[in-house]
Amino acid sequence: MKIEIKGLNQIYPNGNHALKNINLDFSTGMFGLLGPNGAGKSSLMRILVTLMKPTGGTVLVDGMDLQKHRAEIRSMIGYLPQDFRFFSSLKTWEFLDYSGSLAGMTNRRSRLAEVDRLLDQVGLLEVRDRQANRLSGGMKRRLGIAQALIGNPRIIIVDEPTTGLDPDERIRFRNILSQLSRNDVIIILSTHIVGDISSTCHGMALLNRGELVFSGSPGELVKSAEGHVFRMLLDHQEYDIIKEKYNIISTVPVDTGWDVQVVSDEFPGFRAEEITPNIEHAYVYYMEHKLKAYIID
Ligand code: ADP
Repeated sequence: MKIEIKGLNQIYPNGNHALKNINLDFSTGMFGLLGPNGAGKSSLMRILVTLMKPTGGTVLVDGMDLQKHRAEIRSMIGYLPQDFRFFSSLKTWEFLDYSGSLAGMTNRRSRLAEVDRLLDQVGLLEVRDRQANRLSGGMKRRLGIAQALIGNPRIIIVDEPTTGLDPDERIRFRNILSQLSRNDVIIILSTHIVGDISSTCHGMALLNRGELVFSGSPGELVKSAEGHVFRMLLDHQEYDIIKEKYNIISTVPVDTGWDVQVVSDEFPGFRAEEITPNIEHAYVYYMEHKLKAYIID
């Protein structure tokens, strides 16, 4: 399974250039598409799920042109849109059953078996008879992933799935996704939350203002921030100076002032010690430092 994106452009009628010459490949495994709001993630997702035609470029799915084989490719895709909604009067299982019919599962018996298997997988079996609109926010999102999975799609696309979820549900949702990561499927997860890009992601891409600014493994992104993350203990006066000059990633109050982490190209002084970066450090370093340099260039 392979998706190849070549020279993709999306210019909306009002002139918004949402995707600028994107070249990106996805092979089997889980991929994270990360970027701030307005980066172009949803535009890219909508093109991939055939809801929108790009204004330029091509997308090949296993060598098939997305524009020429829309129906065929659509049937391979499970999609959880950002603003997932469902018919309020249906029970949880009925909604999923309906989604299964839409996905082309015509045999009622095997469809019903699949409905219960998926409800179990996403932890909703005990609420199968509850009206879907009475589910909690997290449960609704899990029902959303179940409807994306019914019909055994080989490409699973989820757009900002954890927005608005509490931490417990967010972790639960991530675990469901990483369990899906099998040899024969591509999972693409778009998010503006760095913590959603876990070590289980095989690859990730960073989008910013419609441009692809990084693609590689999460480990490679983290490596790019090595030597640029510092921790220091500051008194209040020193904190005011540092705050003006550097990107502060975390601030923890301590007896004598502040325990602070910053990303910086240069050694910041103030008795700073270098620390091992994590993905959040790397994201800030990349967006704030590399891109600033890149934009000035
Ligand atoms: P993200 O999902 O990363 O937040 P989007 O793809 O939603 O990014 O948006 C990328 C850019 O395209 C933004 O500047 C947004 O305002 C613009 N945009 C998105 N949808 C439309 C639309 N239907 N018409 C015009 N501009 C749009």
